[in-house]
Order: sequence, then structure tokens, then C-alpha cells
Amino acid sequence: MIELKHVTKIFQQKDRITAALSDVSLTVPEGKVLGVIGESGAGKSTLIRCVNLLERPSSGEVFVDGQNLMELSSSELAKARRNIGMIFQHFNLLSSRTVFDNIAFPLELDKTPKAEIKARVNELLKLVGLEKKANDYPSKLSGGQKQRVAIARTLASNPKVLLCDEATSALDPATTHSILSLLKEINRQMNITILLITHEMEVVKDICDEVAVLHTGRLIEQGSISEIFSTP
Ligand code: ADP
Ligand code: ADP
Repeated sequence: MIELKHVTKIFQQKDRITAALSDVSLTVPEGKVLGVIGESGAGKSTLIRCVNLLERPSSGEVFVDGQNLMELSSSELAKARRNIGMIFQHFNLLSSRTVFDNIAFPLELDKTPKAEIKARVNELLKLVGLEKKANDYPSKLSGGQKQRVAIARTLASNPKVLLCDEATSALDPATTHSILSLLKEINRQMNITILLITHEMEVVKDICDEVAVLHTGRLIEQGSISEIFSTP
């Protein structure tokens, strides 16, 4: 479902050149959860941002759902990106909109009929367990609740792929666990393929089918949890 082929990303600022990613190839099969771990500066953010072309690789290819994203026109890319949901460490909710209206936002942009929006948002509120918070503003919510809203909002567009950028890094361990359980449930129920980046080992042990280890822009290992974490 997601395939990176020989992706290299070079940042150039004046006289400083950084290879954030060097010849990274990885595959996430449909319905699987891949976790990418690595220390700060390893290239994790750059990697996940290359999957929806928020960053354009300097070389290499990016395939999502069989499409080579690098070859798409900007309107085709906009369409392809609807298949790619993303959640962030700091949730990125709209503070002037209620929980309901945050989740409705992508549907409004798509000009979905009002009645359909209402039904869909209520269904998503139920999925993430926030029916009672529909009319609250984000400032009244806990971190875990905010991330649930962000998850519901991104699912509103029916993505096939979900990118999680340090999605639990701002949360305490118990809340992290409950968000990861929700993500696993979404992965199983909706067959959504998940790529997540994290600096926390516990996160990948919790929900990932496979783990990849990134170190100074290079993928140094990829395998099942037991392969990567077993001590010889
Ligand atoms: P991580 O997410 O693992 O912390 P990043 O992908 O943010 O790593 O960064 C990888 C490397 O690329 C770092 O050395 C970082 O400073 C550099 N980098 C990331 N984004 C940019 C940018 N926009 N311009 C220049 N250098 C960047
Ligand atoms: P993260 O912790 O997720 O890696 P950072 O704080 O490293 O995030 O980076 C935040 C933003 O700044 C990202 O968009 C990244 O691409 C950019 N960035 C990171 N390092 C550099 C850098 N050395 N120069 C310019 N931009 C950078």
C-alpha cells in the first residue's frame, strides 16, 4: 500500500548540506502497521513527510495505493492525498471550532451534504468515544481527547492510509496506550494501513506488525517485532 524506493532527501542551506534520508526503501503492505523508530535527527519526520509529498524527495519514488505520487499533477496529487490521513504530536485542531465542527471540516471542504455530514460525524464521534463532547471546544479537552478528535477528523475522508507523526509523544503512558489501542482497532476494523514514527520503543511494541530502524538517514534494520527486539 505504501512503498518508498531509494528515497534520498537532501536539505541545502547556504554552505550546509544535510542528507536527511539516504537511499531509503520500505514497504508497508495493505492492512499492516509499520513503526519507524530512531533518535532525534534520524530523519523520521522527513520520511513520513515524504509519503504524502509534504517534502519532495531529492531522488527516488513514492507509491501509495499503486500510484507513483511523484508523477502526479498537483490536482491529481490533491486527490491522492485524500487517501492519506495524518495525525500529529500537537493534534492541530482548530481552536475556534467545536469538536463536531472540527471533524466535519474535511467533509465541508468536500461539499458533502449537511445531513450526510451529521450522520458521518456522529458515527465517528461514537467510534472514538466522544459522543458527549460534540459541542465542546478543543481547549476543554485533555490531550488524549484532542488526539481522538484529530483521529476522527482524519478518518472523515475515508483514508486508506494513516500517517502518525509522533502521535502519542505529548501524552502520558496510560493515554498513549488507549490511543494506540484505538489506532489498532481502526487498523483492524477498517483495514487502514498505518505508518507511524516514534522515538518510543514501547509504542512500536504495542501495535506494530513490523519495525524499521532509522539511523542518520539510513534504514539500518527492518523486521518483525520479535526479530528486531529479540536478544541473541
Ligand atoms: P527526526 O524526525 O528523526 O528528528 P528530521 O527528519 O526532523 O529527523 O531531521 C533529519 C535531519 O534533517 C536533521 O539533521 C534535520 O536537522 C534535517 N532537516 C530536517 N528538515 C530540514 C529542513 N527543512 N531544512 C534543513 N534541514 C532539515
Ligand atoms: P521533529 O521533532 O518532528 O523532528 P523538528 O523540531 O526537528 O521536528 O522540526 C520541525 C520542523 O522544522 C520540520 O518541518 C522540519 O522539517 C524543520 N527542520 C528541522 N530541522 C531543520 C533545520 N536544521 N533547518 C531548517 N528546518 C528544519
